[in-house]
Amino acid sequence: MANTYVMAGVMGWPVAHSRSPVIHNHWIRQYGLQGAYGLFPVQPHRLEDAIRGLRALGLAGCNVTIPHKVDAMQLMDRVDPLARRVGAINTIVVTPEGALHGFNNDGFGYIQSLRDARPDWQASAGPATVLGAGGAARAIVLSLLDQGATEVRLLNRTRAKAQAMADEFGPCVQVFDWSERHESLSSIALLVNTTNQGMHGEPELNIQLERLPQEALVSDAIYIPLETPLLRAARLRGNATVNGLGMLLNQARPAFQAWFGVLPEITPALHQAVMATF
Ligand code: NAP
Repeated sequence: MANTYVMAGVMGWPVAHSRSPVIHNHWIRQYGLQGAYGLFPVQPHRLEDAIRGLRALGLAGCNVTIPHKVDAMQLMDRVDPLARRVGAINTIVVTPEGALHGFNNDGFGYIQSLRDARPDWQASAGPATVLGAGGAARAIVLSLLDQGATEVRLLNRTRAKAQAMADEFGPCVQVFDWSERHESLSSIALLVNTTNQGMHGEPELNIQLERLPQEALVSDAIYIPLETPLLRAARLRGNATVNGLGMLLNQARPAFQAWFGVLPEITPALHQAVMATF
């Protein structure tokens, strides 16, 4: 593999904000590999052409991000069972035979980010409140269930979307009304924000933390900013917090391994390289 020039990248629209090139190109240099990871701004109506082009151009594969994660799945020759359950892919691997395999590593990245922060973390430690019912929520809730969570309280501004998820994922997922979000925090072990509230350019998440137990872990899928108003408020009242950067870094590891043949490490130097872009 070391003598082969390997190319990959990320398709999105818009995609200029993506930190994935910083991550993968850092690893390419760190492991002395020949290759490059690029940004591909792909408009939605060009997605099929772009994905078919992967094979023709000889790319090892690519990541897909907003708004392509659901539509790209339909274009795969094979979809990993977990990605099929999530209903979206974030990684495409082109096999040596030219087949397109779709994976979703977001949930893996999320769980690993909790473990990096708290090696003794267990999904079965207590109830989890998950805010949001979009793509990130689907990956995170499924992974929590697969890790042994027995009670996930799911709340979304549009309740019907949360209900549809609960119907699909089974009785361990209980739906509450968005107006019950403050009360939903009582006796939980984990709070996850998967909404876009608190992201750079968006209003902060409107939630009161009075009922949140002091021992609960508070995590946010958002990584711009690194410390959202939710995480800041949780930290100031003494809760342990995990930001979305760990999820981003960890989801990249299996993709890099599939394309470049090395399972890369998340080092302080990588953290620094990504943080320098904020
Ligand atoms: P998405 O599918 O568009 O879902 C967005 C969610 O935000 C929906 O549940 C939506 O509720 C909710 N929302 C939007 N505006 C709201 C408001 N004003 N009040 C309350 N809820 C609101 O997006 P996604 O792909 O799941 O991504 C969600 C977040 O996760 C983004 O910030 C993204 O950057 C982050 N993310 C991070 C990583 C990582 O690697 N760290 C990976 C994926 C995503 P409705 O259903 O009511 O619209």
